[in-house]
Amino acid sequence: MPFLAAYILIVAFFAGSAFGSFFNCWAWRIVHHESILHGRSHCPACGHPLGVLDLIPVFSWFLLHGKCRYCNGKISPRYVIAEILSGAGFVLCVLRFGLTMETARAVLLFCFLFVLSLVDLESYLIPDRFILAILALWAVTLPMILREQAMTAMSAMENVTENFGALIGKGYLLGTVSGIAVGGAMLIISLIFDRVTGKESLGGGDIKLFFAAGLYLGAAGGLLCVMVSCFIGLIFAFLMRQERIPFGPSISAAFMITFLFGDPVIRWYLSLLGV
Ligand SMILES: [Zn+2]
Repeated sequence: MPFLAAYILIVAFFAGSAFGSFFNCWAWRIVHHESILHGRSHCPACGHPLGVLDLIPVFSWFLLHGKCRYCNGKISPRYVIAEILSGAGFVLCVLRFGLTMETARAVLLFCFLFVLSLVDLESYLIPDRFILAILALWAVTLPMILREQAMTAMSAMENVTENFGALIGKGYLLGTVSGIAVGGAMLIISLIFDRVTGKESLGGGDIKLFFAAGLYLGAAGGLLCVMVSCFIGLIFAFLMRQERIPFGPSISAAFMITFLFGDPVIRWYLSLLGV
């Protein structure tokens, strides 16, 4: 069994890094207004089409010492960093949820957040279509996830299927209320902040992303996500050493961390409040 588990995790890493390579290309084309469906991958410096050898995730960059084979131009390490992070993201999803519906949902959510972050890093914009994709993913998968959770938690209880309609309704309602609470709170805070500092703090895309986090994580999880994203944002701002940093990548990372590993922390602080 350990071999099988290791094998699955290795496959997950390579699948993730291959997707990461595709995401780099996708984000680049969104920022530069090129279609993802047309034309082959090309070197960002000289425009030479890339061959198979140049397209192996992670390895190509190390094999070619971070340079383009055709123009010898330096290829930014950020591409390989993105591939490694994407591989790691897939691995964490599988580690957390095994091979379940939840894993499929987590991986898809990760993919949307990942491309959105790459685009935000480059253009300081979060395209609405990614927010919409994340909302649609939530709405479509919620009944399946609730069913899967109900089945595993209490397969012996007979009234699970009976009350299932009510359970789904409650899930939609709770998620929507949490989304509005988290997104609304961040909107108010950012408006106050903008007034006080006279600068724009959060963009519209950031607020929408917090709304989406509330849907998936609930109000308590959403609050944790806000705190973690501020923490990551501070580190990120320190590392980047620039005045203005896009906040989307920090929110996305916090969203994913809370989604995968937030439950014990949320239970702990709710117990402190006596809930
Ligand atoms: Zn080149």
